[in-house]
Amino acid sequence: MEKTEAMIIRVADFSETSRVVTLFSRDFGKIAALAKGGRRLKGPFEAALDLLATCQIVFLRKSTNALDLLTEAKLISRFRPPGRNIHTLYAGYYIAELLSGLTEDYDPHPELYDQATFALQQLAEDVDVRPVLLRFEMILLREIGQMPALDRCVSCDTLVNSDPQSQRHFAFWVSSGGLICSHCQRPEFNSPTISIEAAAVLTRLADPGDEFSELPMERYQEMRRVVTPAICHVLERRPKMLRFLPL
Ligand SMILES: [Zn+2]
Repeated sequence: MEKTEAMIIRVADFSETSRVVTLFSRDFGKIAALAKGGRRLKGPFEAALDLLATCQIVFLRKSTNALDLLTEAKLISRFRPPGRNIHTLYAGYYIAELLSGLTEDYDPHPELYDQATFALQQLAEDVDVRPVLLRFEMILLREIGQMPALDRCVSCDTLVNSDPQSQRHFAFWVSSGGLICSHCQRPEFNSPTISIEAAAVLTRLADPGDEFSELPMERYQEMRRVVTPAICHVLERRPKMLRFLPL
């Protein structure tokens, strides 16, 4: 029996009474578990098994290729998007989709878990979803070891701010996971460009210890032009929720 706190990132009906839930847990990373009686309102889970709910769970770890067995889930908080804001709901689904697609079973990331629950709390306060998601995406990329190189050219290793007269804009080379200077850039790369200021903001966003409160929204679009391709590249597809979001 294992005990941990977890966020529900996917729910599927399994039989007339049971569900299979995918959870992103604080101490064990992603787990998929069968919840017997999980479809009953008055069952052992008391309707705690909603998408994006956070719960205190107890589960029985099974051997390889078998689903774990969820034996208990006590609701800590439910994700409640405010009022009529459908974007907030989709932003929550987007976080679930990224956690589901980009983390591995039994690969714990407590920091990422804390940041994911924090992002959901922020979203529930009816804020602009864009800075919340950008912060989450950067922390996720860093946590899974896919942080783009934003301080140097990935081809020749020149530091982006090695001298004040140096270039102020760099191309982003998604397949190499980083910036590329004007000497190494080729037109056929067809890369988006980003200023060194925006690249520095992204570096700060990826650091959970950096208490970043005000995102410079005038730089938002250039940051987004880098982060969306970076996410699609590591996920190996476009996230389904992207087209529903005002990013
Ligand atoms: Zn270069």
